[in-house]
Amino acid sequence: MINSARLLDTFLELIKIDSLSKEEKEVALYCQKVLQDIGIEALFDTSAERLGGNCGNLIAKVPGPETSQPLMLCAHLDTVNPGKGIKPVVQDNIVKSDGTTILGADDKAGVAIILEILRVMREKEVNHPPLEIVFTVCEEIGLVGAKELDYDLITAPWGIVLDGGSITDVTNRAPTANRLSIKVHGREAHAGIAPETGLNAITLASQAIARLQLGRIDEETTANIGLIKGGVATNIVPNLVEIEGEARSHDQKKLASVTEDICHSFKKLEQEGGNGLKPKVEIAVRQDYPLMKVEKDHPLIKKVFEAARKMGIKMTLKKGGGGSDANIFNTKGIVSVILGTGMSTPHSVNEILKIEDMVKSASLILTLLDQGSL
Ligand code: ZN
Ligand code: CA
Repeated sequence: MINSARLLDTFLELIKIDSLSKEEKEVALYCQKVLQDIGIEALFDTSAERLGGNCGNLIAKVPGPETSQPLMLCAHLDTVNPGKGIKPVVQDNIVKSDGTTILGADDKAGVAIILEILRVMREKEVNHPPLEIVFTVCEEIGLVGAKELDYDLITAPWGIVLDGGSITDVTNRAPTANRLSIKVHGREAHAGIAPETGLNAITLASQAIARLQLGRIDEETTANIGLIKGGVATNIVPNLVEIEGEARSHDQKKLASVTEDICHSFKKLEQEGGNGLKPKVEIAVRQDYPLMKVEKDHPLIKKVFEAARKMGIKMTLKKGGGGSDANIFNTKGIVSVILGTGMSTPHSVNEILKIEDMVKSASLILTLLDQGSL
């Protein structure tokens, strides 16, 4: 039922419209126009002001039988850098960029799939529950579009987020993450004339970092120090080092414990001191995104597996490695899983989209909706 050529055309049109985070308006208006042509009214929520972007999340409702509970379908409109002036190259059964930008299949493939499904629904008799279409903004800069979404506008208890890679994966789990910003204050001094009056913040910070457990801590948990900045000149004992790090885990307690270990290692510097001086350490921890976990026997997952089985696709449950809008939806009470769109190696100039998989993904969603009882 999916019109493959039309789906591909829509995808190609979407990726040619620049839409870096906070600059999604043009592509959102394109989607709004497509929906309008189908006869579906799509409206922006009020998140634009709070996000400081040029538009908010785009939301549309498609009526269905009152006896069915609504289902949310979501994809995000923004893309990462380098993402301006994308020139798609269609080769064999894949789409790639010209090598100077990302492709933007993350997540325009998801957007194209949703638009195609709605077009099919207009043309053919397709059973489906009431749908709540959500095109979010600012996913790539901390899921803030989803965080700031007007949830009063959504009534669906379940959602499908089309923002995964492999079309045989159902992502039902994703970690929670903390971001740490740390400042180590020492004391400045001339390195040649009076080093004994100084307290070297670089030395201190390196002591704290050296005793951290970083990388993969266990199967569920990782930690990283990713940025370090400090010092002014070789002849000055540096008085400040700024460090940025993160920790992630599929287990809330483990995340808390790893975060605590990192904080403790730096805080310890205040007691240890050096050169008879006591440094000052400032630490700010903020949650990047909350944990996502949908139980594997949840009816939504069963429905997805059932639809896949009808199509002869063997699905597997997958644990994601990072946050997505689905993390946020789940904390807002919308049980959501992530399905694949056929994209791979996102966030790189080597990003590609398998056209056949995008088409299959669209068919899978149609089959899922057609089970009626969602
Ligand atoms: Zn994405
Ligand atoms: Ca992404």
